[in-house]
Amino acid sequence: MTSSVAIIGAGVVGATAALALGERGFDVTVYSDRTPDELRDAVPATGTAVLFGHSRDVDVDLTGDTYEEAPLSTGMATRLTSGEPGELSGLLDFDPEFGYVASGIDVRLRAHDRLKRFIERGGRFLVDAVSRESLDTIAAQHDLTLVATGKGGLSALFPVDESRTVYRSPQRHLLAAAFTGLGHGPDVFPRNARTPRTGTHNVFNLHAEHGEAWIGPYWHKDAGATWSFLGFAKPGSPWVERFAAVTDPASAREAVVALYRDYFPDDAPTVEQLQVIEQDPHSWLTGAVTPTVRSAVGFTSSGRPVAAIGDTAIAFDPIAGQGAQTGIIQVAALARAAAERGSDFTAEWLREQFERHWTERGHAAAEATRLFLGDPDYGFVAAKLFPAAQEDDAVGAALFGLLSEPAPILGLRTDEDVDRFIADAKAAVPA
Ligand SMILES: Cc1cc2nc3c(=O)[nH]c(=O)nc-3n(C[C@H](O)[C@H](O)[C@H](O)COP(=O)(O)OP(=O)(O)OC[C@H]3O[C@@H](n4cnc5c(N)ncnc54)[C@H](O)[C@@H]3O)c2cc1C
Repeated sequence: MTSSVAIIGAGVVGATAALALGERGFDVTVYSDRTPDELRDAVPATGTAVLFGHSRDVDVDLTGDTYEEAPLSTGMATRLTSGEPGELSGLLDFDPEFGYVASGIDVRLRAHDRLKRFIERGGRFLVDAVSRESLDTIAAQHDLTLVATGKGGLSALFPVDESRTVYRSPQRHLLAAAFTGLGHGPDVFPRNARTPRTGTHNVFNLHAEHGEAWIGPYWHKDAGATWSFLGFAKPGSPWVERFAAVTDPASAREAVVALYRDYFPDDAPTVEQLQVIEQDPHSWLTGAVTPTVRSAVGFTSSGRPVAAIGDTAIAFDPIAGQGAQTGIIQVAALARAAAERGSDFTAEWLREQFERHWTERGHAAAEATRLFLGDPDYGFVAAKLFPAAQEDDAVGAALFGLLSEPAPILGLRTDEDVDRFIADAKAAVPA
C-alpha cells in the first residue's frame, strides 16, 4: 500500500520535499498557511538562497530545475576594509574563481514552480495554518509527517539541541533586497585588482569593524535577471540602525547606496545604478537569525513522531549561504531513504536520518558559517586563510569551496591543519 506523507509549510524546502516525495510514489498532502499565489506574490523571499556548486547539482538532480536564463556566478570579488568614512583603509583584495557554478533563484519562484508541478501531478495542497493540536490529528492520519514551517511556525515543537547550538543571540542584523537596473556584462563592477571578470562574480565587501555587504547575480520572480544585496551588521555597529530604518523598497535602495558611498566607495558608482523592482513591493527583508540547531524529531500531544526539515531543523545565519542549500540536501537524502524504506517511519528511523544529515552536511555547514562570522574559535583559521587567499587565487577558491562543500572545515583544528589545507589548495591547481 502507498504510504502517505504530510508536509507542513510550503517554503522552498517544503515544496521541494512535496515534489520529490510525490515523484517517488508517496501520497503527499501539503498543509500551508498561504495559497501558492500568496507564497509567490504576497510575502518577501525568506532569503536569497544562492545554491553554491554541490547543492545546485543536488537540486537539479532532484527537481530538474535549471532556470537556464538566470545569471550564474562563478567567483567572489572579495575585499576587506577597515575604518570610518573618509579614513578607510583597504586590507585585502582578492577575486578567485570558485571552480563551480552558483545560482540565486528567488525562493518564492522556486517554491511556486515546484508546488505547481506537485499539484499538476495529483498532489494535494490544503490551505491550513496548522496548530499543535491539528498537527496531532494530521500525524495520526499519515505515515510520515514533515514539519517545514521555517524558523518560526511550529519550530518550538522541536527542542533546541543545546550541545549543537553555539549562539544564544543573532550574530548579525540583516538587510536583504533585490534590484534591477544593472546588467551582468564582464565589467559591470570595474575593479582595480586583477582581471575584470566581476559580471559573473559576486562582490563581497567585508568591513573589519561593522559587518559585511554582498551583492550577486539573481533571478527575481518578476524582473528576471537582477542583483541581490545582503547586508550583515555586527551587533552594536552603526549599520544596525541603517538597516532598521528600511521600511520599503525605496528606503532599502537608499540604505544600500549610502552604505557603499560611505564604506565601499569603489563600488558605489555601480551600486548607484541599481533600481527598485517596481512590480514587487516585497523585494526587501530585514531581521536577524539566532543560529539554532534543534532536536529534529518532535512529538505531537499524543506522542506521534514528526520530523523537522529545513530552517525548522537548523537555522543558519545567512553569511555563508547555508540554509536553503542544507535544507535541499536534507530533502534529497530523506526522499531517497524514505523511498528505500517504504513505510514504518519510526521515531528511531527519523532520528537516524537527521543524525546522518548532521554528520554529512549540517555540522560542517554550521561551522563554515562560524568561520565567515569571524567567530573567535576560527580566528586562527581566518588569520591564515584570508591572507593566503590574497596571495593565491587557488586558496581563495578553496576558501569559497567551503560554501559549496563545507566538510573540510571540520578538519581545521590546528595551525598545522590550516597550513596543510592551504598547501593542498595550491597543489591542486595545475602550474
Ligand atoms: C537574508 C538571508 C539570505 C539568505 N541567503 C541564503 C543563501 O544565499 N543560500 C542559502 O542556501 N540560504 C540562504 N538563506 C536561507 C534560506 O533562505 C532559508 O534557509 C530557506 O529559504 C528556508 O526555507 P524553508 O522552506 O525551510 O522555510 P520558510 O521559507 O520559512 O518556509 C516556511 C513556510 O511555512 C509556512 N508556515 C509557517 N507556519 C505554518 C503553519 N503553522 N502551518 C502551515 N504553514 C506554516 C510559512 O508561511 C512559510 O511559507 C538566507 C536567509 C536569509 C534570511
